[in-house]
Amino acid sequence: MSENKRIILDPFGATVIEDYERLFTEFGIQPLKPLLSEIPNPFMAMRRGVIFGHRDLERVINAMKSGKEFAVMSGIKPTGEFHLGTLVTVREIIYFQQQGAVAFYCIADIEAYEDNGIPFEESEKIAINNVADLLALGFDLKRGYIYRQSKEERVKDLAILFSRGVTLATIKAIYGERHMGLYLSALIQAGDILMPQLEDFGGPKPTVVPVGIDQDPHIRFTRDLADRFYNKFKFIPPSSTYHRLIKALDGSYKMSKRDPMSYFTLDEDPELIKKKIFNAFTGGRPTAEEQRKLGGNPEICPIFDLYLFHFFEDDKDVIELYNDCRCGNILCGEDKARLAKIVADFVKEHQRRKRQYMDKAIETLKTK
Ligand code: SF4
Repeated sequence: MSENKRIILDPFGATVIEDYERLFTEFGIQPLKPLLSEIPNPFMAMRRGVIFGHRDLERVINAMKSGKEFAVMSGIKPTGEFHLGTLVTVREIIYFQQQGAVAFYCIADIEAYEDNGIPFEESEKIAINNVADLLALGFDLKRGYIYRQSKEERVKDLAILFSRGVTLATIKAIYGERHMGLYLSALIQAGDILMPQLEDFGGPKPTVVPVGIDQDPHIRFTRDLADRFYNKFKFIPPSSTYHRLIKALDGSYKMSKRDPMSYFTLDEDPELIKKKIFNAFTGGRPTAEEQRKLGGNPEICPIFDLYLFHFFEDDKDVIELYNDCRCGNILCGEDKARLAKIVADFVKEHQRRKRQYMDKAIETLKTK
């Protein structure tokens, strides 16, 4: 029964989504599908339903079509190396940048400290690595701004102003009972999301924030603050897109640092990544004979997710794999071997490009 299925959206904790449909009916998120034909040159993850929902994306699409100024804003909590969840957001930022957006990329080092206890000296080193990944993936610094929260005075000033507009009861209702640092970091994130609309960056403009669905509380909180501070800043409430969370290699819904076999990062040895792919859970049957007769289940399969989210360029290949899997025309061993090669080639090339961007990453973060 769908009413028994749980939805917990918690940017600081465990997110559980057992029923994506309820996000539309109860959380005010709009489905992306009806808008797809309106989006110029839609991004791969949009076409495939990986990005499934949005808030007010129409106003960003209008800006894209009319050539008006708009922005894309998102970021990373510098707690470790780029993994496959991070990659969805980054590719979407680069997509919007290529469609004309000015891109803002925040290194959320205040959140890394408040949520994960990572000292600023350490997060700075992690951030250099993250920024080199971002540049290697195609982020264009000429139309982009990368910064650390702890060094960006405009973000901190906005957070201070916003704090007068929020009661403890309101922030508790959104984030639950948390230590003050997490409430502070939520205010800082609101500053991040609205900074592209300050006069320093050309004033109010439609801004899209691509995030995982677990980050929606930050979006709701910030949209409310944009309304409250409209008279002072003329903020346009930020738009957002939401992507599904990619399955971990063990088939669960959360990649866990405690289990390194449940995920891989773009920094790992390609041979180790291959090994992890060969060890991954699948939606296959216990024997080849059963699989040929009954077919597999791509819906629960992390190997299928990897193709769907990242590693098949062509939509036709995704559909073909889905059908071949369902009909038992392909076995998991051969499917894993093909994926392992594609991923290893991608990671090797990414690591080669990344090495070329390390100095640029250091320079980019030196003053920010
Ligand atoms: S054939 Fe591929 S998609 Fe289907 S269950 Fe096996 S690994 Fe997953």
